[in-house]
Amino acid sequence: MKRENTRELQTPSLHIGGSAPVTVQTMCNTKTWDVEATVRQIRAMRAAGADIVRLAVPDTRSAMAIEQIKSEVDVPLVADIHFDYRLALLCAERGIDKIRINPGNIGDAENVRKVALACRERQIPIRIGVNAGSLERRLLEKYGHPTPEALVESAQGHIDLLLANGFEDICLSMKSSSVPLTVAAYRLASECFPYPLHLGITETGTEWNGTIQSAVGIGTLLMEGIGNTIRVSLTADPVREVSAGIAILKAAGLRKGGVRFVSCPTCGRTEIDLISLAEKTEAAVRDLDREITVAVMGCVVNGPGEAREADFGIAGGKDRGLLFRKGEVLGTYPYEELLPRLLDLIRESSES
Ligand code: SF4
Repeated sequence: MKRENTRELQTPSLHIGGSAPVTVQTMCNTKTWDVEATVRQIRAMRAAGADIVRLAVPDTRSAMAIEQIKSEVDVPLVADIHFDYRLALLCAERGIDKIRINPGNIGDAENVRKVALACRERQIPIRIGVNAGSLERRLLEKYGHPTPEALVESAQGHIDLLLANGFEDICLSMKSSSVPLTVAAYRLASECFPYPLHLGITETGTEWNGTIQSAVGIGTLLMEGIGNTIRVSLTADPVREVSAGIAILKAAGLRKGGVRFVSCPTCGRTEIDLISLAEKTEAAVRDLDREITVAVMGCVVNGPGEAREADFGIAGGKDRGLLFRKGEVLGTYPYEELLPRLLDLIRESSES
C-alpha cells in the first residue's frame, strides 16, 4: 500500500499516514526523568526541524516527567516502552502523544486491554516496533533467522492483539541493521497492512556509515512510495539525525524549502581551492530561511551551466571566479572575494 493510501492517524497533535507529509523523528539520549536536560535537547531537535521526538521510558520516574516535559516543548512526544504496561498507562495519563510498545511483550490479555483502552480514550496512536534483533523465539525457530516474512508475522501477532481490543490507530516499524532485509520487510509490510509505516534502519553505526545506510534503505522505500515517517538512527548527537532525515526527504523530493546547495566534484580543470570554498559556502548558507539554489562550480567549462541555472552561483577560473545571479554574470572577482560577495548578493536579494 502506497503511503497516501495508508490509514490516517490524526489526533490533535499528530498527523501520520494518508495525506500527511512524511515526518522526521528522532530520539532523546538524555535521562527522561532529567527534565531540564531533556527539554534542552528537545528544543535543539525542534530547532533543527524535528517533527516528532521519542523518549525512553524505562521507569516510573521517567513516565512521571512526561507532563512537565510536555508543558515546556511544542513538539509531539512518543514514549518508548518495553514490557511494562503500567508505564504506558502512566504516560497516557500524563498527556503523551503516541506510545511505542509491542503488545505481545506486555503480559496477559488484560494488560493489553488496559493499554488499548487508555490509548483509545485519549486518541493516542500506538507504534508496534518489530526489530530483527528481538524476534520471538518461535519465529526464529520457524524461519531459521530473521526474514521479511518473520518480521511481518511478528507484526501481525502484535496487531491482532490490538485489533481484538478494537484498537486500530496503529503505526508499524520493521527495523533491522541490514538494509536489504529491512527494505524487503517494509515492502512486504506495505503489501500486507493498511497502517502507516515508520521507516528506519537500526544500529547503523556512527554518523558517516549510518547516514549512508539510512539514505539507501529509507531512500529506496520512500522513492517507491512507501513510508510515512522516518527516523535516521546514528551513534551521534541526535540533532544530527534530524538533519540527515530532512536531507533524505529533500533528496527524495518529499520536502521543499531551505537552500539547495550544488557543487561540482572538482577535476583536473579546477584551478581554485574549490573544496574549501564549497565547504565554507555550504556552511554559510545551510541555515538560511530561503528557498534558493546556490551553486559553486570549479570551472568555466561545465560550471556556468549549473551556476546559471542557480539563483546564485560561482564558477571558478584561475585564482578568480565568475559570480552569477539568476543566469546573469555579475563580474569576475579574486578568489578571496567570491564568498563574501556571494553572501552580500543573497542578503541584498532578501531585502529587496
Ligand atoms: S565543473 Fe569544471 S571543474 Fe568542476 S568537475 Fe566539472 S569540469 Fe571539473
